[in-house]
Amino acid sequence: MSETPLLRLEEALAAILAGVEPLPPETVPVGEGSGRVLAEAAHARLTLPPWPNSAMDGFAVRSADVAAATAEAPVHLPVAGEIAAGHLPDRPLTPGTAVRILTGAILPDGADAVVPVEETDAPAGVAALPDRVAILAAPRPGAHIRAAGGDVQAGDLLLAAGARLSPAGIGALAAAGIAQIPVTRRPRVAILSTGDELVPVGTPVDGARIPDSNGVQLAAQARSAGAAVAAMGIVADEPAILRRRLAEAIAATDVVISSGGVSVGAHDEVRLAFAALGQVDLWRVAIQPGKPLAFGRAPRPDGGTTLLFGLPGNPVSAFVTFELFVRPLLRRLGGLTADDGRDRIRAILAEPVTKSAGRRAFLRVVLEPDPGGSLPSARLAGGQGSHILSALALADGLAIIPEETDRLAAGAVVEVLLLDRGAA
Ligand code: AMP
Ligand code: MG
Repeated sequence: MSETPLLRLEEALAAILAGVEPLPPETVPVGEGSGRVLAEAAHARLTLPPWPNSAMDGFAVRSADVAAATAEAPVHLPVAGEIAAGHLPDRPLTPGTAVRILTGAILPDGADAVVPVEETDAPAGVAALPDRVAILAAPRPGAHIRAAGGDVQAGDLLLAAGARLSPAGIGALAAAGIAQIPVTRRPRVAILSTGDELVPVGTPVDGARIPDSNGVQLAAQARSAGAAVAAMGIVADEPAILRRRLAEAIAATDVVISSGGVSVGAHDEVRLAFAALGQVDLWRVAIQPGKPLAFGRAPRPDGGTTLLFGLPGNPVSAFVTFELFVRPLLRRLGGLTADDGRDRIRAILAEPVTKSAGRRAFLRVVLEPDPGGSLPSARLAGGQGSHILSALALADGLAIIPEETDRLAAGAVVEVLLLDRGAA
């Protein structure tokens, strides 16, 4: 065992993030921008609505002409024409007349209210243009008119730089005349799994083999952090092959994530390979699970630097170290805030827990709301061994137990990092 003291989580994270800047921007069509991060603020190009228009199918009128209208004593107006969406009004409204108008159509000059078709004697739906219409209720001035600029003015800020574009954001930008958007380039991430025992997921497992679950799990985590993933498969526990495959990954990507081969077993070659191809900046962090995490960097043939993560092979350790260290880095490269982007809440332990002193523990817990409206309760989702993926899959969050504690009684209040169970 190495005698080097374990790094505190914050020290390790600071070393990983030191000097890391967002990647350069690229331009994409707004319709392909879902999940992308805006590299610059987006300002409206158009004023919306561009002109006053009708919010209803009905009749455009002068409110003064029909101020006395009631169901018992309707006001009758001649119908002077029709305006549909996509068509310019061909003349102003003549006082004492009505114009049939459809939702989204431009209000003619001279009109200051729309009477919905339901408040007239005209039939709703498709119908021939009537000669006259009976108005059954007096509209307030401005009734059912969407004002020009009522949504946004040209030049208004729509979304700030660093915003992650949602489907709603795509709609808002497109409506405001934005067709192309500058977004931060996605981090390119290579994922490779080390171990003679591994076979690709879906391949028959026989003898001493197990599926390479880390490969697909880490790829899904990286994608959810905004990365473009290159799956590089399985690398045997053979130093020369490992170095060759790592060198290929380094040349093609911004970040390489390997799993396995970083503890102190006889086949733990990953750190040696990182050192041969670049440098090792840190190894071993005071957390549980995930202690053997290694991080380094290597020069790329194009003059850039590729960041290297050697995650532990145990699947829960690989998951947790990704969340704590890799996700903040990928978010930073991708133009987001350099944190894990996850919510933390307080919860009450429903059962006593024990852990190793000296390491911060991340226990897989299921949360249950407290019917009394106080803090939710947290119970263990299952076994806490770093190989027990079934409990991780059930967990709502990771309960964070501080370094100095080795046991907590039921009823203790803990901080819980929320996982997005069920989200992509
Ligand atoms: P290692 O860190 O290489 O010693 O691996 C620790 C444990 O994690 C061993 O039980 C491995 O079989 C397991 N393991 C390593 N890599 C993977 C992987 N890609 N998928 C699933 N389990 C793995
Ligand atoms: Mg291994």
